[in-house]
Amino acid sequence: MAKIVITEFMDEQAVAELQRLFDVVYDPALVDHPDDLFRHAIDADVVIVRNRTQVSESFIAKLPALRIIGRLGVGLDNIDLKAAAARDIQVIPATGANALAVAEYVITSALILLRGTYSSTNAVISGNWPRNALSSGREINKKQLGLVGFGSIGQLTAKLAQALGLSVVAYDPFINQAACIWAETEVEPVSLETLLAESDVISLHVPLVNETRHLINKNTLSLIKQDAVLINTSRGGIVDEEALASALKNQQLAGAALDVFEHEPLPAGSVLADVPNLLLTPHIAGVTYESNQRVSSLIAEKVIAVLTSDAK
Ligand code: NAD
Repeated sequence: MAKIVITEFMDEQAVAELQRLFDVVYDPALVDHPDDLFRHAIDADVVIVRNRTQVSESFIAKLPALRIIGRLGVGLDNIDLKAAAARDIQVIPATGANALAVAEYVITSALILLRGTYSSTNAVISGNWPRNALSSGREINKKQLGLVGFGSIGQLTAKLAQALGLSVVAYDPFINQAACIWAETEVEPVSLETLLAESDVISLHVPLVNETRHLINKNTLSLIKQDAVLINTSRGGIVDEEALASALKNQQLAGAALDVFEHEPLPAGSVLADVPNLLLTPHIAGVTYESNQRVSSLIAEKVIAVLTSDAK
């Protein structure tokens, strides 16, 4: 019977589905206990991970029976794809299954950052009435959204944004200007420079690769309008955190929301401490009750399909 080791949280119903057919070790704490993880996974055919388990070359080398890596999400930067390919190990991401959760997070962040009204709870409770101070919040209607990366999350975010009356532009050098997706989605392809200079809301949806590392840095930040807001749900290394912190402190930018960071969790003394108009969340944009179910059942289904067809 094939053995599956699940190292991070997965929807219980999908786990039960796998347990019905295979020998399954499910312990969401394994990611933090590498000795236990390798003890269980030494003879595993499949490991199922989220983004915290680092499936490096040496990780793969320690698991001689490994045939499949299931990824409960879409970013593959925690998996050494070359090392997996060299061993003919199949990598299965949950493509598209958490896109809606991220797209809703982006729209929510944009609304909160532009409106700037939701920080008054303590003031109101203590009898203050900061109505004047909060009366210049902005509406999202008729603003421009700039999407850096126009894959599954970028496209879904565009659709939600258009429903709220935003116009949408996108920069994606891997989608031909003549591709029908632009007309179909009513999104205009533009250069990165144009996008940064003209958008009111800028949202990042690219993978972390050499070309995108610190794509948002001191120079590119200087192109952005002073009253624009930046949202990063993609990967931490894409934004130079020090440059962003100083842009916000110097009011070169109206606000930012970060769900992903260069180092997760944030180390003590992070440059992001005490920065104004900055929303921080713990890499949760893609994780909702519903998306966890979709992601988990999709990975369970795909793993079952491969293992049962291999067994034939
Ligand atoms: P996707 O592969 O569908 O789309 C990525 C797009 O980026 C592609 O269209 C690709 O052509 C484009 N791209 C690649 N390199 C580029 C570059 N140098 N400049 C501009 N565009 C470039 O991916 P997706 O599912 O939309 O995911 C986007 C990002 O969101 C990934 O980094 C993923 O890891 C991250 N993500 C985060 C969360 C979260 O919880 N925060 C959840 C899901 C996905």
